[in-house]
Amino acid sequence: MPYLMIWGVASLIYAVVGQRPTVRPDVITSAARYADSCARAWGYAHGVPPVVYRTFAPGSHPLGARVIGEWRPGDGRAPDTVLVDTIYKDTVWAVAHELLHGAVGRPGHPFAFVACGLMTWQHAPVADGACAGVLCKGGR
Ligand SMILES: [Zn+2]
Repeated sequence: MPYLMIWGVASLIYAVVGQRPTVRPDVITSAARYADSCARAWGYAHGVPPVVYRTFAPGSHPLGARVIGEWRPGDGRAPDTVLVDTIYKDTVWAVAHELLHGAVGRPGHPFAFVACGLMTWQHAPVADGACAGVLCKGGR
């Protein structure tokens, strides 16, 4: 009986964690190559750092429902984290946008973001105001 319980618990964990949406490897590869190339072209010589990817349910970001992505710097021991709304997890420009923050090393959007076409309004113009510090619908 305990074995069945262990099997049941393990299956449940797999069902919950195993099917958790994540950023696809091919999207990561494309986004990282593009962001790295963009960063180096604009003088951010370190390029894209190692990153951990996480997703969040649409509209559930703590900073607001309009947020579709966020870059969080590492602390020297843990790497940077890229968080992406599950709706945008397969969207190369959205992931590349966050990776470019990693290469730049700070929030905010220097001209490299615009030059490389990585701003939200360059993909989905929405006139619903600005959004500071994170990638969001209509954000600049
Ligand atoms: Zn941004």
